Amino acid sequence: MKAEIISIGTELLLGQITDTNAPYLASELPLLGIDLYWITQVGDNRNRLVDALKRACNRSDIIITTGGLGPTEDDVTREAIAELVGEEMRIDPETEQWLRGIFQTMSYEMPESNIRQAYLIPSARAIPNLQGTAPGWWVEHEGKVILAMPGPPGEMKQMWENEIRPDLKRKLSGEVIISRTIKTLGLTEAKVDEMVSPLLSSSNPTLAVYAKLDGIQLRLTAKDRERSKAEKVIAKAEEQLNNILGWAIWGYDEDTLEDLVGTMLRERGLSLATMESCTGGLLASTITDVPGSSDYFKGGLVAYSAEMKAAFGVDATLLAQKGTVDPEVAAAMARAARLRLEADIGIGITGVAGPAEVKGKPVGTVHIAIDAEGKRSALSVQYPPRRPEVKRRAVYSALFKLRQLLLDWE
Ligand code: AMP
Ligand code: MG
Repeated sequence: MKAEIISIGTELLLGQITDTNAPYLASELPLLGIDLYWITQVGDNRNRLVDALKRACNRSDIIITTGGLGPTEDDVTREAIAELVGEEMRIDPETEQWLRGIFQTMSYEMPESNIRQAYLIPSARAIPNLQGTAPGWWVEHEGKVILAMPGPPGEMKQMWENEIRPDLKRKLSGEVIISRTIKTLGLTEAKVDEMVSPLLSSSNPTLAVYAKLDGIQLRLTAKDRERSKAEKVIAKAEEQLNNILGWAIWGYDEDTLEDLVGTMLRERGLSLATMESCTGGLLASTITDVPGSSDYFKGGLVAYSAEMKAAFGVDATLLAQKGTVDPEVAAAMARAARLRLEADIGIGITGVAGPAEVKGKPVGTVHIAIDAEGKRSALSVQYPPRRPEVKRRAVYSALFKLRQLLLDWE
């Protein structure tokens, strides 16, 4: 397979911007086994662009363009491709709806010129753009593949990685690739690695282990010419992993802990309140990243000093005895949050985010407690001493703990 990249934009030819799209794509193509023979730069001129496209089609199998998909008159990539393949552009209703939706969410009137971004020709399919208003085009014409992507490097890169590269891979190999991510928490990467080691040497599916702040993730990837067979391979390996990792698994693929916990609270009709010290409100912030969290989240107190903890209802004697970084203090914070905010469940977090230790307690020490009527749960952990990570990890551990408590909630 021979490929050619066409970078489109007059500003490139005027030396006003440097072409970073072509080098990025050039570094990607060999990974797909595609040979890149030519990179062309051309201005925002329809005739010259049609010329460049014709030449590319004569000598290459895959033509990748970036730029010229904007809403203005000087963006002519769509027009040039339509002319090349000899097809007429029409407004694609689905793309139009998507486009109008974007402006609606931003509460802007859509300028009528933007409708050009909903144009399509019969040989093209629109490729979603998650960061902008210019969809890409995937065109198949007389055995050639023409891929048109937006010019802004961020939009181009995300479209390439998420939409085009996977499809291109599949097209080249004739194979379907399916992956499944399994998310765990509470085990170290080394431990997970050891537990799943029999599966690590498999070539289909492959298994990869990644450490993330919300735990250790495992990614299964299976290949087959038939989708159903690849799905079976994944399902079988997933079952094995479920048996091995059991309780530590909290979610799959796009799942987030805050989403899962939110759904569980709503289903059970329970409300939640928090009191945070070392996480400084990050737990409350994460919980409220979920739309509709007001259904179950009453609020969060950030009690950073000992005085504030006492003012919010933590026993001052306990604080004087134990200091602020202590499992009993975390439990008292959880209880005080629950009572103060009249919630069913309270969470307390206290610890040392760093960089300096507190009264002999090392950086990364975190105590988490959950308090509910007749139920309690607690966790003390020691994270690697990197301040922002300690805060994030503490938040995820608290949500994981809460999930466990909710799982056997009657
Ligand atoms: P366009 O879609 O052609 O209107 O491009 C929009 C913007 O994306 C340009 O103003 C540049 O800032 C950027 N851009 C376009 N093409 C490239 C490129 N090849 N390399 C780097 N940036 C680009
Ligand atoms: Mg342009």
